[in-house]
Amino acid sequence: PVRTRFAPSPTGPMHIGNLRQAVFGWLYARHNGGQFILRIEDTDQKRFVEGSLEYITGALRWLGADYDEGPDVDGPYGPYIQSERLELYQKWANWLVENDLAYKCFCTSERLEKVNAEKRARHEPPGYDRHCRTLTPEEIAAKEAEGLPYVIRFKMPLEGTTTGHDIILGDVEFPNDSLQDAVILKSDGFPTYHLAHIVDDHLMEISHVTRGNEWLPSFPLHINIWQAFGWEMPQFAHLPLILNPNGKGKLSKRKEAFNDSGQKVLIKVSEYIDAGYLPEAVMNFLANIGWNFGDDKEIFTVEEAIERFDLKDVNPANAAFPVEKLDWLNGHYIREKDPSDLAQLLVPVVAKAGLNADPELVAKVTPVSQTRIKTLNEFIDLAGFFFEDWTQFEAPDADMLIQKKMDAAGTKRCLEASIACLASIDNFEHSALYETFKELAQELDVKNGQLFGTLRVALTGQTISTPTFETMEILGKDETLRRLELALK
Ligand code: GLU
Repeated sequence: PVRTRFAPSPTGPMHIGNLRQAVFGWLYARHNGGQFILRIEDTDQKRFVEGSLEYITGALRWLGADYDEGPDVDGPYGPYIQSERLELYQKWANWLVENDLAYKCFCTSERLEKVNAEKRARHEPPGYDRHCRTLTPEEIAAKEAEGLPYVIRFKMPLEGTTTGHDIILGDVEFPNDSLQDAVILKSDGFPTYHLAHIVDDHLMEISHVTRGNEWLPSFPLHINIWQAFGWEMPQFAHLPLILNPNGKGKLSKRKEAFNDSGQKVLIKVSEYIDAGYLPEAVMNFLANIGWNFGDDKEIFTVEEAIERFDLKDVNPANAAFPVEKLDWLNGHYIREKDPSDLAQLLVPVVAKAGLNADPELVAKVTPVSQTRIKTLNEFIDLAGFFFEDWTQFEAPDADMLIQKKMDAAGTKRCLEASIACLASIDNFEHSALYETFKELAQELDVKNGQLFGTLRVALTGQTISTPTFETMEILGKDETLRRLELALK
């Protein structure tokens, strides 16, 4: 059976590029009717950030990339947090030592530093000189008797080449002398990534390892460790990285990135949630970076992606982050939503903006806003005025009421006439209102745009909003009159 895993390190807020890696592993598992496992790789305790686990599980749940086993989903291969599996790594590291496939290294950091300094002086690349690889059993016993701390290092073959296969990159070959005798178990008993992920991928019966291609240089080390254990290797797919929108440099947590039109790239997954993107849009967006649905189709449902996704179709080239596509996709998914479902998503957005989030009113405003917003948050810009305590007319610019080259007197005349006219009508259906006000414009001898624009600003305090007569219909007669009168003051 296909079993893939997402194995993040809990080092803080999850990066959007990490989430995209999770998506690829998840799609592949779902495509094959297999399992997707979440494993937390927290063996580097110095980099641990409190709250990361909740962040990771929350991001996956929000997106809908559900996992079958993980820290909070029981499974037969747990625990799924590496710091709870230390004995396993210690056992297997010792097994390698006993079988002469790894060795104890007692070198102090001072000695390692000195070796590197000498190498630098000789213009050689830094690295360990394998001093302890040739210690005699007596020397080792003496050092242990002294109680000296040690790490365990893997014995890399000193010559020859290591070959491997990658689903995305094809066959890869590396000269062995380019590799170090890497530390696999630290002196505090914690494993390094090199050992821990192999022990886990083996014991958890992972069939396909999907991970960022920044791990490609260590791939030959890992292949040798797999072979040393004599375990059957899973298949590997080193995923292309996400680059900045201009295609230069890796998208990073630390450096802000923008596209050509100045749009900032959001990095943390939480920023996407806060900005009002829908999970289905983000899923579609991420699946489409480095993988194509085909048929020039950019909009596809998650079911369609599952149906078609295959790791072998992933483009090996690192991909620039197409930030501008997300708004477009998100607008599409907002328009596709059932209005009452959308309204439910908008209620908390209105509340978060500090406005009166009356669900009934939100439900009325949603259908006239749905085609006009690209993110949930844009609802506030477009239609926030519905939910304000409207105690006086306020607009960003005092002259905004004076629309389309009217003068102040003309604006006043329009407002007074509108109030008089509204007072006598009861049909507040928007197309009837439109007909009424079209006639009124003729009577007043102003252009439609002048009258309608004035009304819009008077009712909303803005020039871009939900359509004027729909707005009136939703506000109702009393509130419409009240707002027009406040505008006259
Ligand atoms: N913990 C590693 C990372 O976050 C996982 C790499 C892997 O998926 O094997 O980069």
